[in-house]
Amino acid sequence: MRRYSHDLVKNLPKLLTKGKRSLFFQKNRCQGCNLCIVVCPTGVLESSGDLNMRAANVPRVKAGKEKSCILCQRCEFACPNWAIYIIDEQPEPQKPATPASKEGAQKAVQST
Ligand code: SF4
Ligand code: SF4
Repeated sequence: MRRYSHDLVKNLPKLLTKGKRSLFFQKNRCQGCNLCIVVCPTGVLESSGDLNMRAANVPRVKAGKEKSCILCQRCEFACPNWAIYIIDEQPEPQKPATPASKEGAQKAVQST
C-alpha cells in the first residue's frame, strides 16, 4: 500500500475514507470497464451513469456502503489505468529541533 504524507494527497479526489486510509479516484483516467465493481468483495462500488471526459461511465460508491469497504485493494489491482487506489496518509514528519549553534550559545554565555 502506498504511503504519502497527508499534505501531498489531501487535495486529490476521494471516494471514501476510513481512518488514515482513503480510496482515491481519478475520474478522467477511468475507461469505464467496471472491473473494480466486479472484483469488489463487499459490493461497495456501482456504475454511476456519469460520463467522464473519455465518455466512460465511471464508478461510484453505493449509497450507505462506505463502511463496507475493507480496503482490500482489489479494485486498485484490477484497474488497468490506476484510476482507483488506496493511499495510507501519513502525518507530516516532525522536524527535529535544531540545537542552538555553538557560536550562538557562546554569545549568550558572554552576554550574561
Ligand atoms: S478496497 Fe476492496 S472493499 Fe474497498 S472498494 Fe476496493 S475492492 Fe471494494
Ligand atoms: S477498473 Fe479502473 S478503469 Fe475500470 S471502471 Fe474501475 S476505475 Fe474505471
